[in-house]
Formats: sequence, C-alpha cells, structure tokens
Amino acid sequence: MSSVASLIMAARQSGIPVLEARLLLEHASGLSRTRQAAWPEAELPPEQAERFHTLLQRRQAGEPVAYLIGLREFFSLDFEVSPAVLIPRPETELLVELALEHIPLDTPSRALDLGTGSGIIPVSLRKHRPMLDMRAVDISADALAVAARNAERHATPIQLMQSDWYGSLGREQFDLIVSNPPYIAHGDRHLAEGDLRFEPRGALTDEADGLAHIRRIIQGAPRHLAHGGWLLFEHGYDQAEPSRALLTAAGFAQVQSWDDLAGIARVTGGRRA
Ligand code: GLN
Repeated sequence: MSSVASLIMAARQSGIPVLEARLLLEHASGLSRTRQAAWPEAELPPEQAERFHTLLQRRQAGEPVAYLIGLREFFSLDFEVSPAVLIPRPETELLVELALEHIPLDTPSRALDLGTGSGIIPVSLRKHRPMLDMRAVDISADALAVAARNAERHATPIQLMQSDWYGSLGREQFDLIVSNPPYIAHGDRHLAEGDLRFEPRGALTDEADGLAHIRRIIQGAPRHLAHGGWLLFEHGYDQAEPSRALLTAAGFAQVQSWDDLAGIARVTGGRRA
C-alpha cells in the first residue's frame, strides 16, 4: 500500500509539479484533489498506485496532462479532450468573452464556429446564451465526435456538421462567425516543443505562412454573414496587423484587435458593412 503523500512526493522527485501530480492521482484513484489534500495519509490499493506510476512515466515522456486524464477546464467548464483535438488554451477565453458581447441575451440569433475541435467555443457560447442557434463545423470526424460528447455533457444543443471551412454550408447566413483556426506557420519551432508535439498537426498549422486559413475564413465570411454581423477570430502573437489588413481589404468595417491577458493582440475582427 502507498499513501497519497508518498505518491505525490515520488512524483515531485521525478520533476512533476504538485498540481499535475494531484490531477494524475485523481485520475488513477478517483480521489479528488481536495480529498488528497485533506487526507494525505490515505492508503491506496496497489493497482491504483501502479496506474499512477504509469501515468507519471507517460507525463515524463512529454504526454500532455489533458490527454492523460482526458479532461481540460475551459471557461469554468470541464471538457473532454483526446489526441483528436487541440487542448483548450486560456487565450481562447478572450475569443469567447468577445463573442458573448456580440450575442443578444434575450433574442434569437445565429452563430457559426469554424474548426470547432472539442467544441469548447460553441458549448461555452450556448451555455451563456440559451436563445442562440449554434452551428459548429470541423473537417475532422473524430473531432466532431468529441464535440458532440461535450455538447451532451453540458446539455447545450449545437448543430455539428463536417465541413472544410464553409464548404458544406451552402448559402446559410449567421449573425456571428467565430474561429480559432490553425495559425502556426510551417517550421515554427513551437511545433516541436511541449504539448504541441502530441496535438493534431492539422489543428495547429496551415503548413504555410500561418495566415492561409485566416485568409479563407475572411474571404468566405461576407457571403455567410448577415448584414451587420461580426467575424471574430483568434490568431498568433504577430498576426494582428496582417489580419486587420486582410479584413479591411475584404471590405469589413470596425476592424479591430483585442489583447489577451498576457497583453498580446490575440483576437481580431470586423463587421460586415
Ligand atoms: N494557441 C496555440 C499555440 O500557440 C495554437 C492554436 C492554433 O493554432 N489555433 O500553441
């Protein structure tokens, strides 16, 4: 038998931060982080300790905690994640907050999320805007399956559809279009570092200059936005200026960028004139 305290200690000695160790132990044993902290002398059965050690080894080999435990919190909700989808990032909460500012609370409106992945954006939006008619698309059927389970988990009705950007949307129009597209440029060293090594490459990079998908999203938006509708998208730390230039060239009004909590211009958008 091993105690909670001795298992956490073993994790810290192998270089795993305590919060990560507690998340992994919660996954291995079912003992919540609160219970672990309150009850460090609790003894765990050998099979749970072994499961924990296996998780520790995988973590040491670089696998992201979110994939090991199959969960990540975003906008105060827990979401299922798997290697079929990008791991939710805190920056993307800025996109959700801005999108919420553009969705009325008590009148119906229509929104579209392009490249939804695990569905964190549409689920968060629908959770806070019950009148919203929420559509979300992704090119990946595996990602859509994860998104469907997250919509179910949070009881947020969302219409999911497989589509290469606007490809399957016909002439449908929306009052708001949002996206966190793959915007990392080909050859960016971050692709070979940390969690990104384990994430779906197609969700991270366009294998080009980083703006290829942003261009397509902007080009197709006027046709799918109602008059006065907004397009808002997340982008890389150095892409705010080119994003605004693309929006302006496409005839958008009120083109602007917003900073994330780190002070980096992270979301850019404009309004269909
Ligand atoms: N924000 C992610 C990163 O920089 C990239 C996600 C994306 O391409 N949308 O790691």
